[in-house]
Amino acid sequence: MLTLYPDAFPGVLDTSIIGTAAKNGLWQLETVDIRDFAVNRHRTVDGPPAGGGAGLVLKPDISAKAIDSVVRPDGNSGDDRPLLYMTPRGKPLTQDRVKQLAAGPGLVCFCGRFEGLDERVIESRGMEEVSIGDFVLAGGEVAAQAMIEACVRLLPGVLGNSDSAAEESFETGLLEYPLYTKPRMFEGREIPAVLSSGDHGAVDRWRRAQMEEITKARRPDLWDAHLKRQGDSPSRSE
Ligand code: SAM
Repeated sequence: MLTLYPDAFPGVLDTSIIGTAAKNGLWQLETVDIRDFAVNRHRTVDGPPAGGGAGLVLKPDISAKAIDSVVRPDGNSGDDRPLLYMTPRGKPLTQDRVKQLAAGPGLVCFCGRFEGLDERVIESRGMEEVSIGDFVLAGGEVAAQAMIEACVRLLPGVLGNSDSAAEESFETGLLEYPLYTKPRMFEGREIPAVLSSGDHGAVDRWRRAQMEEITKARRPDLWDAHLKRQGDSPSRSE
């Protein structure tokens, strides 16, 4: 993890199943302080944007040195880990990409700050630009933690058997059905009767119908993709 704020790690990654998995040796995190590669006595890592404008840009020479301390630039180091740059203009992170990352050899992640990283480093180091959503954070640290948490929970041995990831939102291409637990009655709202019927077939059918209804209403993009996979033509008017 390349960051100007190493103290931000492990942060939330030290809690719950993700923290336990680290303690059990299922994954590990190394942080590199980008500022350690600064050359002047002020430890400067940023400069004004070429062409003018607001904010500051992470300097290419310092950033590249920090990256190269972890991943060799010639690509011949035998290190196959993808080099990711967290940025709002990146490709939106999906569960499919999370699954690929979790199945891979690990990852190297650069957390931006200020206005972002000099474009030449992104190009020369072949960085994969990743966004965690259409909003702007102050830095890449929280974005990186979100991505790592999503990956680590898919590593073998991290989730208990009862917490299978297979039925969760996005795994089936649909959003999850509504969840309930006891008490049966809460503030005048009752758990749907079918869930207490003991009829597993009926429960499955109800859940499936809920998944479809919720996905159709909330995420027409996912619903269209689902219909396409089913071999139907997409329709927004259903
Ligand atoms: N100037 C950038 C822009 O307009 O796209 C925003 C820079 S933001 C203030 C500073 C850093 O936060 C970025 O370099 C990036 O590392 C991180 N960041 C902010 N929002 C993000 C998001 N949605 N996904 C991933 N990283 C994000």
